[in-house]
Amino acid sequence: MHTDLSAREILEKLVSFPTVSRDSNLALVDWVEDYLAAHGVRATRVYNDEGTKAALYANVGPEVEGGVVLSGHTDVVPVDGQSWDSDPFEVIEKNGRLYGRGTCDMKGFDAIALAAVSKALKAGLKRPLQIALSYDEEVGCLGAPRMIREMAAHLPKASAAIIGEPSEMKVVNGHKGGIGIETHLRGHEVHSSLMHTGVNAVMEAARLIDWANRRNAENMEAQPGPVDALFEPPWTTCHVGTVEGGTADNITAKDCRFVMGFRCIPSERVEDWQQRYLDAVVEIEAGMRAVHPDARIDTSVRFQVPGLQPETEGAAEALARRITGDNAPHAVSYATEAGQFQEAGYSAVIIGPGNIEQAHQPNEWISLDQFNQGIAFVDRIIAHLCEDLS
Ligand SMILES: [Zn+2]
Repeated sequence: MHTDLSAREILEKLVSFPTVSRDSNLALVDWVEDYLAAHGVRATRVYNDEGTKAALYANVGPEVEGGVVLSGHTDVVPVDGQSWDSDPFEVIEKNGRLYGRGTCDMKGFDAIALAAVSKALKAGLKRPLQIALSYDEEVGCLGAPRMIREMAAHLPKASAAIIGEPSEMKVVNGHKGGIGIETHLRGHEVHSSLMHTGVNAVMEAARLIDWANRRNAENMEAQPGPVDALFEPPWTTCHVGTVEGGTADNITAKDCRFVMGFRCIPSERVEDWQQRYLDAVVEIEAGMRAVHPDARIDTSVRFQVPGLQPETEGAAEALARRITGDNAPHAVSYATEAGQFQEAGYSAVIIGPGNIEQAHQPNEWISLDQFNQGIAFVDRIIAHLCEDLS
């Protein structure tokens, strides 16, 4: 393998692997591992339970504390049903933009991080650059926690984790936490003329969904705290996007399923919202069982992502602000892996090239300007890692 590829060349390679979250990412991981090995860098894989996907991490440079993690995810969202003007898995340059699935979210940053490896090795690092590439980010940040645990256990502790999600190179120090709870109500079927003897799973589900409506109304009324006020909206939201259930118009519904999703402001814990919801489930289930003993509600957590709390004097934020000169507060309402790094004890911040508006879209693109700003930013991180700290 040619050892010195540019970020652009690496991006072309990464985009060519159709690493949609539902499919394996191992072909991409093989390639990255070989690329790092060609630079004498040993990478470690962290597999999922099925062995079909892997995260990968590596320490570049001296094995000492005080390094910087560059973190990205390797998976992308599907292109099904989207109308693209070009092959989504090929990088096409047009009008100062690079088109292709993942160019923005977030193989662009992955490529920049990987291209930094050969530069970092030549620069004479005093502290390491650490690379962390996850899988299954797009389906609820499922892949990163195991990788982060292993990194924390096996690599010298880094002083900052940079999560390169598209932020147009703005320093984002907070995001909401999230949880999705799969909810399956099981009713009791009777003819609707005798509905008082049956349990209608759809109508009972409506009670739970209305519970969410009432919480949203309350949350909207509450006075947001100073940190919460940075978010749009500055309150925790409860959301149901799809509902599935019922057999016929004249039968009390036997089943009803939905996912109750919460996006939580940093001052409120994801676990507390989960508990509040489960309390409501227990109450409604009791009413169902009073009519028929077979009726019940099953719940399971589909995903859970901690929020990113703005840190007081956080090393990651300070580094990113020093490099970019961006001193404005920025918070986002989507979840990322930054909260997971923070939960594991890393100082974490989000900053990366591209605009989140282009993420997940047909004809996804990143501007060359943003891409180049990302490269310049990481160059400055390398320079920082070469400095003597006094
Ligand atoms: Zn992303």
